[in-house]
Order: sequence, then C-alpha cells, then structure tokens
Amino acid sequence: MPSGATVSDTPTLSELDAASPFVERHVGLSAADEATMLARLGYDSVAAMMDAAVPAGIRSTESLDLPAALTEAQVASLAREIAASNKPGEAMIGLGYHATVTPPVIRRNVLEDPSWYTAYTPYQPEISQGRLEALINFQTMVGDLTGLPVANSSLLDEGTAAAEALALVHRANRKGSGPFVIDADALPQSIEVVKVRAEAMGLEVVVADLSQGLPEGDVIGVLVQYPGASGRVPDLKPIVDAAHERGALAVVAADLLALTVLEAPGTLGADVVVGSTQRFGIPLFYGGPHAGYMAVHEGIERHLPGRLVGVSVDAEGRPAYRLALQTREQHIRREKATSNICTAQVLLAVGASMYAVYHGPAGLKTIATRTHRYAAVLAAALKSAGLPLVSETFFDTLGVTVPGRAADVVAAARGFGVHLRLVDADTVGISTSEATTRSTLSAVLNAFGVSGVDLEEIDRTTASALPDGLVRTTDYLTHEVFNAHHSETQMLRYLHKLSARDYALDKGMIPLGSCTMKLNATTEMEPISLPGFADLHPFVPAEDAAGYTRLVGELEGWLAEVTGYDEVSIQPNAGSQGEFAGLMAIRGYLDAQGEGHRDICLMPSSAHGTNAASAAMAGMKVQVVKSAEDGTVDLDDLRAKLADHGEKVAAIMVTYPSTHGVYEEGITEVCSLVHEAGGQVYIDGANFNALLGYAKPGEFGGDVSHLNLHKTFCIPHGGGGPGVGPVAVRSHLAPYLPSHSLHPDTSKRSGIGAISAAPYGSAGILPISWAYIRLMGAEGLTRATAAAVLSANYVAARLNEHFPVLYRGETGLVAHECILDLRPMTKETGVTVDDVAKRLIDYGFHAPTMSFPVAGTLMVEPTESEDLAELDRFIDAMIAIKGEVDRVASGEWTAENSVLRGAPHTSRALVGEWDRAYSREEAVFPRGIDPDKYWPPVARIDNTYGDRNLVCSCPPVESFAE
Ligand SMILES: *Cc1c(COP(=O)(O)O)cnc(C)c1O
Repeated sequence: MPSGATVSDTPTLSELDAASPFVERHVGLSAADEATMLARLGYDSVAAMMDAAVPAGIRSTESLDLPAALTEAQVASLAREIAASNKPGEAMIGLGYHATVTPPVIRRNVLEDPSWYTAYTPYQPEISQGRLEALINFQTMVGDLTGLPVANSSLLDEGTAAAEALALVHRANRKGSGPFVIDADALPQSIEVVKVRAEAMGLEVVVADLSQGLPEGDVIGVLVQYPGASGRVPDLKPIVDAAHERGALAVVAADLLALTVLEAPGTLGADVVVGSTQRFGIPLFYGGPHAGYMAVHEGIERHLPGRLVGVSVDAEGRPAYRLALQTREQHIRREKATSNICTAQVLLAVGASMYAVYHGPAGLKTIATRTHRYAAVLAAALKSAGLPLVSETFFDTLGVTVPGRAADVVAAARGFGVHLRLVDADTVGISTSEATTRSTLSAVLNAFGVSGVDLEEIDRTTASALPDGLVRTTDYLTHEVFNAHHSETQMLRYLHKLSARDYALDKGMIPLGSCTMKLNATTEMEPISLPGFADLHPFVPAEDAAGYTRLVGELEGWLAEVTGYDEVSIQPNAGSQGEFAGLMAIRGYLDAQGEGHRDICLMPSSAHGTNAASAAMAGMKVQVVKSAEDGTVDLDDLRAKLADHGEKVAAIMVTYPSTHGVYEEGITEVCSLVHEAGGQVYIDGANFNALLGYAKPGEFGGDVSHLNLHKTFCIPHGGGGPGVGPVAVRSHLAPYLPSHSLHPDTSKRSGIGAISAAPYGSAGILPISWAYIRLMGAEGLTRATAAAVLSANYVAARLNEHFPVLYRGETGLVAHECILDLRPMTKETGVTVDDVAKRLIDYGFHAPTMSFPVAGTLMVEPTESEDLAELDRFIDAMIAIKGEVDRVASGEWTAENSVLRGAPHTSRALVGEWDRAYSREEAVFPRGIDPDKYWPPVARIDNTYGDRNLVCSCPPVESFAE
C-alpha cells in the first residue's frame, strides 16, 4: 500500500546515493561539532576561519582537478578490477624477491589488524611493549641466523641496507682506505643503490668478481651476496679473510631462509650482514614494503643505522623494552647521525618475526630444505635432459644454459603462468620457494621442452646440492619464544597478548604533531591483500603489471595536481628517502648547469632531523638559519647567510607550514631570496595535511618537495613503518628523478639511478593512498584540511590558558598543529614534559610529540579524523593534569613524589605496599573508575640504564619472573 507520500517529498536515487559520502566517515567532526568549535573560535564558518588562517599570498585560486569521489563499494570494486589486471602467476625470478606463504593467522592478526598497523613508532615505550617485544624477537632472529650479536629493527629494503653498510664501513673503518668492493654476483639493484649513495657521499665503489680474489691495492670494505644472484654459493671464508688481511670490513648480503641450512656469515668471520626478511611470510607486493635488516659484530653497534630495541628496567625494577642508543639517530645528531632513517618497516618486521615464532627453528629448516629440494630435483631433471647448469651447488636458484634460447624459454614459461628470469640470451634463472609445487616444476620443465621425466624417481635418487663445506652446523632460534607458539591457538593468543599491551588508534587518539595520525580506513586497507597487488614480483614484464602501471600513473598524476608540481616519483620508500632523492635531483640539475660547486644546504633551526641527515648523505653542508622570536624564519639572518655564502648555496630546505605549526607569511619571500641567490627551494611536505586543497608548494615557490603518504595520505604508521615518500618536482628537475635499471617503463631505466631496491619502492601499499584520493575527491580532501585546522585551533584555544601556545600566525591562528609550552611550568615546579606525557597514559592517551621542534614543549596534532568528544576528552585530561601540576606548585606534593613523576601507573598500584603521597585511586583512575581503562604493562622506563647495559636480543624468560 503506497504511503501517500508525494513525489516532491520522496528523495530520488541520486539524492540518496549522495547522502552519505565517505568524507563523513573520514572526517570525525559532525556539523554540530563544527558549529560548537567555530563558536569557540569566533568564526561564522569554516571558510572564514581558513581565509584568516592561510595567507592570501599562497592560496590557490582554483579547486583541485581530481576525479569525482566514489563510494566505498565503488572504490572496492575498482580496486579489484585493477588488481585483476596484474598477472602474478608463479614468481620464480628470484633476485632477492621470493614467493612465500603468509600464515593466515599472521596476515589477519598482524598485517590486517589495526591494533598492529595503526600504532606509532615506539617512542613512548611504556605503551609499546607489544611491538617492542615483536621487534626484539626480530633482532634475535636476525642475530641468530646471521651469527652476529647485534641486529637492528629493520631497514627500508635490501638495497638501502647494502648502502647503509657502505656508510657504516666508512664510519667504522677509520684506519682503512681505498674503494668499497662489491662482488659482481650481488643483486643488481643493490649494486645500483650502493653506487648512487657512494657517488653522493664522494666514495669510490668497484664491482669485481670476488671468486677471483680481491682486486689489488687498498680496500676499505667488501660486499658479497650469499647465495649470489646467479645461485652460486660463494665460499665466504677466503673472501672474509682476504678482506681482513687488507684492513677491510667484510659485509655479507644474505638470504635468511638460506641461512637456516647454510653456515652463518658471522660464524665465518663477516663483520656486517645485511639483507631482506621478505621471504619470511611477507607478500612480494611488487617490490615492497619489506623489512631490510642489518646485523653487526660487537664493537660497531654504536655505528648501526636505524632503530635498535634494547632491554632496560622500569621504575618497579622489572625488565622492559625501549628504543636504545637513540643518541645515534637523526633527531639528536642531525647531520652527524648514523643515517637519515626515521620511518622504517616495523609492521613488516613484526610480520617476519612472527613467521619465525610460528614456524620455529625446525619449521623454518623444513621450509628451507623443501625449497632446496625442489631446486635440487629440478636441477637433476634438467641435467638428465642434457641441459647444463651454471653451478652444481646452490640453495634455491639455478642458472640454466640454453644457448640462444633463453628468451623463448622464459616466454614459454610465462605462457604456463610461471615467471622465470632472463639472465642473458643464453641463460635462464629459476628460483624455487616455499610456494613451489610439483606442478610448478612440470610447467618449468615443459617450458624447457623437457618431457617424460619421473620427478618422484629423480627425488628418490638425487642428493642435496648444498655446498659441502658450508652446511650449517651452528644452532639458532633456541630462545623459548621461537619454540612455544606453534599451534594456531597459541599463535593467535600470543599476537593478541602483545597487541593488547600497545596503544594504537584502535584505543584512542594519538595527537602526535608532525606525524598526522589520521584514520586508515578499512576500504583503503583491504586492496593491499588482493593477490593481484600482493603476489606480483617487481621484475615481471611490464605487460603483467598493467594494474600497477595504471595505479601508479593515476596516483603520481593526482599528487602532481595537488602539489602544483610537474612530475612525481613514488620510488622513495620513506620521507627521508624522498628528501635524499629530492636533494639528488637538485645536485643533478646544478651539475648540469655548471653549478656543481654549490654544496650548502640552508635550513631553519626548526627543521626535522632527517633534513640535516639527508643533506649530509647527499654530500651537502648544512648551514642553520635562525628562527625569529615569533618562530618564523629570520629573514635578516637568511639575507646575511645568502650574502656570505650566496654562490655556494645549493638549496634551502624548509618545512611548510613550519614545524612550529604556523603558516608563515614570509614563505614566498624566503623562496624568492634563495632563488635570486641561485639556490633551489626544497619544501618538506610532511605537513601537507595543512595545505591540501588550499595551497600548492609547487606554485608558491618550491622547486621540489617530498610528501609522506603515511601521514597525509592515510598509509598507516605500522608502529614505525612502512611509508612512502614520493618526491615531486618542477619540470627543470624532472630529468633527475630516481631511475631504476630494471624499471618496467624503459624510459626510466637510465638516469641518476635507484634510491630504492624496487622501481616503485613500496608499491604494495600505494593502493591505500590511491583509494583515499578516489574516495574523497577534491571537495572531500579540501574539507579534511579545514577540519584538521579547525581541530588544532580548537585544542589551542581551549588549552592556551593552561599551557600557553608557543607560536601563532599573524591572525592568531595556528595551522594543523600547535606547540604547547611547558617550560614555564617546568621552571616553576620541576614537573617535566616527560612527566606530563607519562601521566597522559594514566588518563588513557598517547602523548603528543615531545620536545620537537622546541625542547620542553608538546606538539599536538589532532587531525581531521577525531570527533569533538574525543578532542574534549584529551583537552580535559590535559587540564586535569595541569591541576595536578598546580598541587606541586602549591607545595602539596614534591615533583619527585607526585602523581606525575610516578606515572604511568600499572595495575600493581592496586595491591601491596603503598607509600606514595597520593592515593591508589588518584594513580590509576584519575577520572573515576573506568572498566575500559588501558593499563600500561610497565611503569616508567629507565632509558639510560639500558644504554649503559646494552642488551638487544630476547632476555631469558626467567628475567621476567617476579
Ligand atoms: C615525518 C617527517 C619527516 C621524515 O619522514 P619519514 O617518513 O619518517 O622518513 C621529515 N620531515 C618532517 C617535517 C616530518 O614530520
């Protein structure tokens, strides 16, 4: 029975379709929230507030030219369609990337679980014990398998790990001299990445066949691939000994799966071992993200690049994990840091470590033995058909000699859905893996035209082809943790036990300034698990990667549009790598102009540590430009620096809006002053969340920027990576963007060289940012920016009387974040930024960014994804904490014996002796009893204790006993 409604009051399908766009899911603020917040700030509309906040001089006049927003269902379906146009087949190309089986319990409960992937880098260790334990498992796994005592917690990929080894050798081998020698059988992409890095740093690299001995003369270090790209397993001992005799350090790039059956390089004398942990259950992802690794022998651990997890103690005297030796890192040492790595590959490192936990030493050995067995059986079958092999011993990779026929064999295999490696016109490369089956072998044999072999018979009659002298005799993964979680029930519970210890976005807001911890929507995340995206090898023929070609092309085009630049490369796999790539583009351009003598990089004192470290890596000298009283770049100091060094200035690196959280009016003048002096302008785009849709750095004066897709464009932080740091340039710098000798686009094979191991870097997570832009459209993205700025200003307005906001723009507004000045409070009461940050944990919050860019302050970035209630909950917690500080100020508590210094409080506060100056209730339930309270598993951690007593692998289980 019709309801009697009239046509005019019945909504149409189009109206209903448009009624609940994705932007309403992404932006946390309702219309009512916005109205309340605007009233508090004294603006009639969001547009009026943005007009006041964003300087007119940088505002873009036109709206973004992007495709219209789609619904979540439409984006999901389009993503499936694009994924389906990739042809993963069976990947047997090798070259450092191997098919693997991600245990479903790990895929679903780590890689696809927001309690792992939405966490931040574990700078607040008390709320990060879960991922820190997973990372110390990773370090123990790498250390055991490589036979070296200290391993770090992931590098960006194998190629950059090799480049970091080059840099480490130059730092650690002070007495050495001469070139760094790389074995010709190293992975080609590693050789390329190392060469680019060496050239930037003015170091010499020689590629030589090390099976023929070391080249004559001084050598500072050597790098050998184990097993080699060809499949040969080099005899390490003679090479390592020869290197040591020349005073060189020996670096080995090793396959961790092979190390379960081949003797550990550390045992054979290697000083440094690097590589990738991809084949420990991490999908191929068309080249990344994967966790690279590095392990070193004792005595050089202080030179290690990247993050290192160590064991320390908490205030209750129990062992606890935290990041160790942070004094080596770029945020402290800046241009003198051991590397520029900030965002690494934590989520993938967690995944790989859990693969080892799940399979254990025996399981891993079985997987490796089976992988080798398939290679051995295949080798025997090929030989029985009269086909010669490049090497009679191998682990998983065969070179098969088929004079003049290699291309035909590879093409025939492709017809059977198997990707082999075309080594040269006469040689085919084949790598077996955990995913290899008998039917794969049959397809491969068919491709070679070999038929009628009885594989079972060959299996019964063929011996192992591992090289005799190199079969592993030392044990590994003997720690309890690798021997206790082998059933799926145990594994599931272990994963959830660890993630429950951590505070991630699934628990509440993470208001970290500069880090943009916004929503990582499920619709954005889901496509990365589609086989078309997940299982593609990076070196398949371009025709088999049509989906990625389309996705990358669209994404690079949209990023160019939103930034106002002419060309974009998504190859760099973190912001730091984008910086390096951008500075290398500047170098390439200046060289070509005959201006190669320009080697000074100016940067304001507020610059992120990676800026300085990247400039040093790119062979530039850092000159700091002062900040004025109001936090802006001091234009007089800039003029003075340009007058002094003008003709030597290569570039200025400025972050916009500045890391002071302010839209500086002077930015256009900064750009023109540097341009007039002949320098280039690098605008660090990590804060692009304050500009998107409102201003374009490529239009207001930048020559080059990097973006952090893991900030503005919704790739989750993963607990400290993965990331993507695209570099965007104006046309004059475009010829100097990263290239890659194995690039699917042949026009990008030659150029300045590779910055990452894979042509498209962390390709596998690009669908996330692609989906975000496709879901939001121009209007949605612009709206998100305004909501982020509104939220930051609301926080600033409500907190200012309790914690003064340090910097503001000329109209009194901040950008998308604000700095709260705690220094007056500390001076008066002795309560520190740390105390406030740790006390926030008792209130159920992750602390804001601490002491960056100004020591003694907190930087708050709420993002657009929080609702007003959550913002108020945070603000109220901060105000309540200020009330506690006042009790110290009034003399009721000393700072030492206050609820602030005692924070965070664990559940132990509820039982046993209690001798504090405040009650148990005040300690753990500052806002009343809360059944949903987050309990930190450890009390305040002593950082210096852990650095003085460095332990970087799993402590014995007994040390946790009460
Ligand atoms: C995050 C950040 C970086 C570094 O990016 P990573 O991806 O962590 O390497 C650089 N500059 C600024 C201002 C940042 O906030």
